[in-house]
Amino acid sequence: MADAPTRLLADTVASWGLPLSADQLRQFARYADELLAWNAHTNLTAITDREAIYVRHFLDSLVLARFWGDAPASLVDIGTGAGFPGVPLKILRPPLALTLVDSVGKKTAFLRHLVAVLGLDQVRVITGRAEELGRDPREREQYDVVTARAVADLRVLAEYALPLLRVGGVLLAPKGAEAATEAAAARRACALLGGALEQVAPVELPGIEPRTLVVVRKVAPTDPRYPRPVGVPARRPL
Ligand code: SAH
Repeated sequence: MADAPTRLLADTVASWGLPLSADQLRQFARYADELLAWNAHTNLTAITDREAIYVRHFLDSLVLARFWGDAPASLVDIGTGAGFPGVPLKILRPPLALTLVDSVGKKTAFLRHLVAVLGLDQVRVITGRAEELGRDPREREQYDVVTARAVADLRVLAEYALPLLRVGGVLLAPKGAEAATEAAAARRACALLGGALEQVAPVELPGIEPRTLVVVRKVAPTDPRYPRPVGVPARRPL
């Protein structure tokens, strides 16, 4: 018999038309176990209640799959921390080629361990900055989807993310309840980078405050002068 958080996860995701198998639900349980165990010695998350991990980390990540359209082949998660939203989306869609990026080595050490214990393939874990990735010709304009949660204001995020997207790809950025103002303020930055603000969609998850998902579509190649060098996007947002 599954525990309450597992049932909540399974039922909610099924109600979105995205069923999870028993093996996938076991992977989420193991993810929560590993997160709690590592969090005892390494600061990975402020959320330590198991049910809250399932809603605020797992469901808040999985809901992005409702917005990506045709199943994407590749996804890069910038500032992924303990793997959100990238790793739950990979568990949901095993064929996804996933790249996880964070500048903090103790977080990427956890991710390497997690990827091994969950038996995930086609996952790359990179310790580095989004700005460096976006200037690397092997990474630039390669991805179908870029995700980033709780990393930066959308104006800054647009400069991290849009260079990495192929034309036609999307940036999916989970935000709190009040994202409309932030999104409106980022319109110009998005346009400069070859992006167009497509949606600011309200998102409801069981038992927590309303959330918003911002969707930015890549509509034209990004000018080679972006992203600017490490630190500049955050210091002088477009
Ligand atoms: N996305 C995770 C973690 C959010 S905390 C979640 O929602 O739970 C923000 C993370 O972004 C931190 O781990 C920080 O190291 C990373 N980060 C911030 N700016 C970055 C950049 N320019 N490049 C790569 N990682 C960055």
